[in-house]
Amino acid sequence: MRECFEVRDTDAGGRIGELTVPRADVTVETPALLPVINPNLDTIAPRRLATEFGAEILITNSYIIHETEDVRERALEDGLHELLEFPGAIMTDSGSFQLSEYGDIDVTTEEILEFQREIGSDIATPVDIPTPPDVDRERAEAELETTQERLELAETVETGDMLVSAPVQGSTYPDLREAAGRHADSTSLDVFPVGAVVPLMNDYRYDDMIDVVAAAKRGLGADAPVHLFGAGHPMMFALAAAMGCDLFDSAAYALYARDDRYLTVRGTRHLDDLDYLPCSCPVCTEHSPDDLRALPDDERESELGAHNLHVTFEEIRRIKQAIRAGNLLELVEQRARAHPTMLDGYRTLLDHAAQLERSDPVSKGSFFYTSAESARRPEVLRHHRRLERLAVPDSLLVTEGSSPRGDEYDDSWRVEPPFGPFPRSLSKSYPLTAEVPDRTDREALEAAADGVARLAAANPDADITLGHRGWPTGVLGRLPANVAVIDLSDTQT
Ligand SMILES: [Zn+2]
Repeated sequence: MRECFEVRDTDAGGRIGELTVPRADVTVETPALLPVINPNLDTIAPRRLATEFGAEILITNSYIIHETEDVRERALEDGLHELLEFPGAIMTDSGSFQLSEYGDIDVTTEEILEFQREIGSDIATPVDIPTPPDVDRERAEAELETTQERLELAETVETGDMLVSAPVQGSTYPDLREAAGRHADSTSLDVFPVGAVVPLMNDYRYDDMIDVVAAAKRGLGADAPVHLFGAGHPMMFALAAAMGCDLFDSAAYALYARDDRYLTVRGTRHLDDLDYLPCSCPVCTEHSPDDLRALPDDERESELGAHNLHVTFEEIRRIKQAIRAGNLLELVEQRARAHPTMLDGYRTLLDHAAQLERSDPVSKGSFFYTSAESARRPEVLRHHRRLERLAVPDSLLVTEGSSPRGDEYDDSWRVEPPFGPFPRSLSKSYPLTAEVPDRTDREALEAAADGVARLAAANPDADITLGHRGWPTGVLGRLPANVAVIDLSDTQT
């Protein structure tokens, strides 16, 4: 077990966890948001982040501090906590982002780690190489090798009780990300940022982002706290949390505020385009859009920054509650409807249903079938796997209708989209208690047919008959030839 992190609750790949940060003497509940603080300009003072927004942790850039003389002197003399006036945990980035933007920085991993310790950082970051998406494989491999050397070097630096992060790189090559995750996990380092995903998010490539995170997670193992580095927009937090990301940092709240952009969980709006403020935070209840537009630039930026942050923290709380209640994927389904690329992200997440299934609880409160994608949720996959282990009599009717009288069959099971067949004794157990719309969709019927096919494949000697209510021919075509079919829709049974 990794000592600094403990998982308390899970739902799909999402989890509520506790990250113990010994140097700050605080325990941060995850999923957590780390507002990004630029030591040279704060849109919202760090103290306000703690008192007004409940921030338990923030992130700032040690390279900027290192390169700005007066800030450096004050950080070395008074420490980061006093410099920023923040009582929670402080994570520091190393300048890798500057490296990716400007191609060069003038510190080594040892220097920047020692500097981070000297200024009182609670979670430090070595200088890794953030390899962008889509580079050729040779470059991705070579840069990953350098990153891995830096991580091994970081292990040897005397860092006291400061936690140290181990970024996972590998560009858009899933096998490299997985290998990078496995290597990072084998070090003694503590927190695992999935790096260089900002270009993917900037281009709305949420499908590729999910593949990258899923691959890193396969390498990292279940007890590693995972940080989605540079993930700033609350719109995609639920999706990323469902794939198993525990820490998010947000510079977006401040950067967007600077451009008069107003964050919502369904996307970004420009203040000029808003006739109403669709939010109940203190900023939006006290101002109209006209009031905000009339404010002097710096005040407007600060008010918009506060709104953006309220929305962002609210989404984190909503995600935690969804994990606790076992309906995180239903929240992801709602968010997926906000933008076609988010839907791509959700569909990609479901490509990893087998991976999510490992951490998904066996029993939860409810399963609401709220979109065609619900047919691919991990609970459906798990039921299909369970079908292979159930004892089946010689002759079995699986039916959407009631149990037949007489002894034509040895037993009769129910069939429900999207799960497929199950013994009637399981009717009251999760997820078979699911709420499914009466006007079901093709995906649910297909998943049910796949369940029947799986049962038939596991029991080749059994005579299985399906009683269905008007399933389309294409759906029935998914069944093997040895399953007999009765259409109940015209027989009233
Ligand atoms: Zn608001």
